[in-house]
Amino acid sequence: MRTPGKSETRPSKCRLAGPPSGLPRGAVTDSHGNHTAAIRRLAAQEEVMSLPDRHNPYSFEPFLEWRRNVRYYADDPFLQQVARHYCGEQWPDVDRAAREMDRRVSVRWRDLAEEASQPERRPYVQHFDAHARRIDRIVRPMETRLLEQEVFAEALFHPETPRWVRLMKMFLIYQNGEACVACPLVCTEGLVALLERFADSPATLRILDHCRNGVDGRFAVGAQYLSEIQGGSDVPANRLEAVPGEGDWRLYGSKFFCSATHADYAVVTAKPQGTESVALFVVPAWVPGEPRQRNGHTVDRLKWKMGTCELPTAEIAFQGARAYLLGPPERGLANVVSIVLTLSRLTVGLSAAASMTRAAREARAYAEFREAFGQPIARFPLLAGQLGRLEGRARRTTAGAFRLYREFLCLPDRLRGGLSDKEPATVRRRRFQVRELVMLQKITAAADCTDMLRLAMSVFGGHGVMEDFSALPRLYRDAAVNELWEGPRNVLLTQIHRDCQRTRESYPPRELVRDLLPGADPAAVADLGEEMDRLVSHPSLFAPDAVTLDISQAWEGFCHRLMHAYQDLALQAAERDPQP
Ligand SMILES: Cc1cc2nc3c(=O)[nH]c(=O)nc-3n(C[C@H](O)[C@H](O)[C@H](O)COP(=O)(O)OP(=O)(O)OC[C@H]3O[C@@H](n4cnc5c(N)ncnc54)[C@H](O)[C@@H]3O)c2cc1C
Repeated sequence: MRTPGKSETRPSKCRLAGPPSGLPRGAVTDSHGNHTAAIRRLAAQEEVMSLPDRHNPYSFEPFLEWRRNVRYYADDPFLQQVARHYCGEQWPDVDRAAREMDRRVSVRWRDLAEEASQPERRPYVQHFDAHARRIDRIVRPMETRLLEQEVFAEALFHPETPRWVRLMKMFLIYQNGEACVACPLVCTEGLVALLERFADSPATLRILDHCRNGVDGRFAVGAQYLSEIQGGSDVPANRLEAVPGEGDWRLYGSKFFCSATHADYAVVTAKPQGTESVALFVVPAWVPGEPRQRNGHTVDRLKWKMGTCELPTAEIAFQGARAYLLGPPERGLANVVSIVLTLSRLTVGLSAAASMTRAAREARAYAEFREAFGQPIARFPLLAGQLGRLEGRARRTTAGAFRLYREFLCLPDRLRGGLSDKEPATVRRRRFQVRELVMLQKITAAADCTDMLRLAMSVFGGHGVMEDFSALPRLYRDAAVNELWEGPRNVLLTQIHRDCQRTRESYPPRELVRDLLPGADPAAVADLGEEMDRLVSHPSLFAPDAVTLDISQAWEGFCHRLMHAYQDLALQAAERDPQP
């Protein structure tokens, strides 16, 4: 689909007042300061009319018309090319599924997401019903509920849904921002992955079935509650207490950030009574058979957030909620990192790529439609450069996300945490690469996304910050949240440094760089390798001294450059293929 070009968009010869193209602003007054006469003369010369008109015919219609009809998949040959390059033999299925869903995601779900984002439609909690019973019901608008139901009806977590189809659908869905589906989707993905591994009782198997196959056409929604008031980064410091019962557990204490509070089930971290280890549990939201009675917890407050506003995020108090243990209690932390957080960090990278893709597409179309000083703004070299940067970042982040997902899928037993001596060295190294790349991508893509969305908004000028002119302000606010949850950047930077420190004898950093960047310019690889060797030789990023401060600053910049180099290679590989 073409973007709205000049010939289609010229609403009339009437433009906003200003100097005709190519003329400095001073040129519109004559030697006597006679502004109007000078403009008339120049307008006559250049056929630019800037005369008063009480019936100003200016219209955004050509741009809106384009936006109404654009398809996220069919109109994006680059995305098709990336998918064909990285999805391997699943490509025909992916292509078919994306085209089949294209209209739903690009029109219907986009519109539902827009409608649900109106401030008056934000979710709220109804604590009591009319009969003085505490219900803590999360009230969400009809648009959000419809959107969720239809997106979950795609059965993304059904065992027969190919992994690449799931990924592509998520990429397309994420172009609509959070919309109270992005977070629930990935939380459900994490829940399913945990249950596939650890469900071992009728209750947990039933939950797995509800998530994967649905019940009466309704698919379960998952959430994950890890963060507590004393610190979200430091999960080992969790205080929530788990008390063993007969065949299940009871939870006591509180969680401070609980998104997707309307979910059917939540993965919850808690410490078994009297121990220091963090265990993992699945907690149903409701008492079985009593859909209006919460399972041993209260939703005390919904947070007032800057981004992901359509998504409820609550503070919850547990007073004996029935919970089912997932996996060995002493392995809860390892499992939450290797399974739940791996999937959600991969998703942050993917959703950053999706948001940037939409922002770049809409900014380009608007810049080709909008005129200033007698020409489409896309022609101004400053703007042309910014659009190029925006598209370049969107593309490299997309290609990087697809490449990393391929490497993740190729790992044997891909969600296994830790590095086992029992595995061959090559597999151990690949596992380590993917682990570090997942964190590198999370911080780099999330940071690039906020930068690029801000840039995209600037292409729209003042309209860029109008909440009802385009989705960009909403995507920007969502992107700010993406930077913080699933491991804020400092925590992940520290973790990557610590990992590389620990393995530097068996897997020297310069070899890691070489393995991450096969085929890249050897001189650039050598420079990055040398820099990483030097930074990682510093014992840790914890000591509050001047040297550590310098190393920490350099480490942050280095990690971004390393991830960008990986993404650039991923992009070059995809672009070498002929267009589909
Ligand atoms: C909108 C929203 C929704 C959320 N939903 C959920 C949810 O559903 N479930 C859930 O469990 N959590 C959720 N979170 C919580 C989120 O995961 C935490 O905010 C995050 O983990 C950080 O924890 P904190 O806010 O307590 O910050 P802190 O842990 O207090 O960190 C503050 C700062 O210190 C830095 N820092 C901390 N430790 C280190 C370190 N070792 N080295 C260097 N720097 C460090 C951090 O990078 C950060 O910059 C949500 C957050 C938001 C914003």
